[in-house]
Amino acid sequence: MGYVIAPGPQATVEVRGTADRYPVHRIYCVGRNYADHAREMGGDPEREPPFFFMKPADAVVPSGATIPYPPRTANFHHELELVIAIGKGGHNIPVDRALEHIYGYAVGNDFTRRDLQTAMRNVGRPWDVSKGFDRAAAIGSIRPVTAGGHVLAGKMYLKVNGEIRQDSDVSQMIWSVPEIVAELSTLFELVPGDLIYTGTPAGVGALKSGDRIDAGIEGLDSLMTLIA
Ligand code: MN
Repeated sequence: MGYVIAPGPQATVEVRGTADRYPVHRIYCVGRNYADHAREMGGDPEREPPFFFMKPADAVVPSGATIPYPPRTANFHHELELVIAIGKGGHNIPVDRALEHIYGYAVGNDFTRRDLQTAMRNVGRPWDVSKGFDRAAAIGSIRPVTAGGHVLAGKMYLKVNGEIRQDSDVSQMIWSVPEIVAELSTLFELVPGDLIYTGTPAGVGALKSGDRIDAGIEGLDSLMTLIA
């Protein structure tokens, strides 16, 4: 069997300690998973639970990349996030078995066109144009669970031009890593290759052309992005 047009390339992510790469199937994201960020976005974390949205698989961008300031926005934001890489599929995964489904972890940046997000939210329309645009999913190399265990706590930071913008700890999540996997698997059948961006702490903010973003989470390889 052939194809009537050339198929697009498989999106992949670097893996620490090997030349082999992690093939991306889908990118899921958790919204408002840190109480301080829910409040800075005008929400009430006591009343509204976190939720899910998606980005296209080919939105991944590796560490060291220069990305153009995206079109149709004047308020382009960074969001520092822990990323889960699924290694074993399943649906209706119980919380106490969820960690068995994780291949590894990475540092991510859930880039957002904040002005489009606000505009879409205000008229009750989907978020895709604000979250699922080209190169909207920066991700550092994946560190396998076999090379350092699970990331359930640990300091996380994001700097813009050397200045700290986000400074928190993975343990501050509303839904924990196993709870995210279990909850998501009740909505979608998880497949090896699925990435899950687990939400951002407070301190999100605007980027401009020429900025350098450095993001890190304890025990994981850092993520650097330049904005052209
Ligand atoms: Mn986010």
